Amino acid sequence: MSNAVNIARRKFLKQGAALLATFAIPRNLESLTKNNQMTNKNTYDVIIVGGSYSGLAAGLALGRALRNVLIIDAEKPCNESSPHSHNFITNDGIAPDEIAMTAKTQVKKYETVEFVKDIAVKGLKINEGFKIETISGKSFLGKKLIFATGITDLMPNIQGYSECWGISAIHCPFCHGYEVQHVKTGVLENGESGFEFVSLISNWTEDLTLYTNGKSTLTEEQTRTLESNHIRIVENKIIKLEHKDGYMERIVFADSNKERITALYAKNLFIQHSQIPEQMGCILTDEGYIRTGNMQTTTIDGIFACGDNSSRMRTLANAVATGTTAGMIVNKELIEEKFLIKRKY
Ligand SMILES: Cc1cc2nc3c(=O)[nH]c(=O)nc-3n(C[C@H](O)[C@H](O)[C@H](O)COP(=O)(O)OP(=O)(O)OC[C@H]3O[C@@H](n4cnc5c(N)ncnc54)[C@H](O)[C@@H]3O)c2cc1C
Repeated sequence: MSNAVNIARRKFLKQGAALLATFAIPRNLESLTKNNQMTNKNTYDVIIVGGSYSGLAAGLALGRALRNVLIIDAEKPCNESSPHSHNFITNDGIAPDEIAMTAKTQVKKYETVEFVKDIAVKGLKINEGFKIETISGKSFLGKKLIFATGITDLMPNIQGYSECWGISAIHCPFCHGYEVQHVKTGVLENGESGFEFVSLISNWTEDLTLYTNGKSTLTEEQTRTLESNHIRIVENKIIKLEHKDGYMERIVFADSNKERITALYAKNLFIQHSQIPEQMGCILTDEGYIRTGNMQTTTIDGIFACGDNSSRMRTLANAVATGTTAGMIVNKELIEEKFLIKRKY
């Protein structure tokens, strides 16, 4: 991705985040939380915000480590529009909510792990650790915080796109490519990123078009390479995807031309699903992910992040792997603090 696109994207992400934060925090939140007396019941070793694949994986590791854990989840995972999930071993081809439900049932067996359906709206550093406030006016204390909050896809201004998202407008060939092999496929992207993406997708189909949705910013060499590999480049502005129940049939251009299409890969712009990590001082990368070390530590001591919010590797397998790591490392930190051991990572 070019620097200019990166900067524009980053700026857009920030503006979007600020806007969402404004709407997310109710005006009377302060008065609600002041009236909410803290009790021991509101105090945990670890609070996990986000109880989807990565949050549940962290919760499982911590439950097995006998930790008192609270998982706060709004139950809005990013893949809910997809009929099936693929490429996650033991659960290939299963509906996303079924996988999450199995995971939740297994985590619920650990009696030290509690769940609350709510939206966390504010996080504060306090002496003993952290305080999380929710939209319903509750507040909870935790020695450590794990954000497993995911990201929110921002849909491009193309009619019908959001209805197709997760069904025939897709983000990842490893998740969906096998199911749409050898069909009329498009890639919606431009420039360096478009070149890389369309080259990747050529592994799954030979009937491939790169839709730059405006003037191509490919180099001459990239254009020649794509053409010699029989990949079409279409610069027409797209206004609509005609579809039946999310399965796209035709792509409609601003000049009223149409062409047949079955699957369209795209890289959406995104924002963090929760703005709390950034509000609490966690640094984001230029791309908009929470910056983490290889043990899922963020730039704020005691706060961890896992899953989509901190990785370009947008898969269940990665969400679960990073969630498990976060859970295990948080437990390790709590032990080290008890024994006054100096941290080595
Ligand atoms: C359309 C689509 C299809 C996909 N298909 C596949 C596939 O086939 N195979 C595959 O391996 N991967 C697939 N993925 C990727 C996979 O879904 C993600 O990598 C995975 O869901 C990330 O898990 P996560 O726990 O990090 O985030 P999410 O699953 O997005 O969950 C985040 C959770 O945090 C909660 N949350 C956020 N903010 C707050 C807050 N402030 N308070 C309380 N709760 C909060 C949300 O409500 C949500 O429940 C797909 C992704 C998409 C978008």
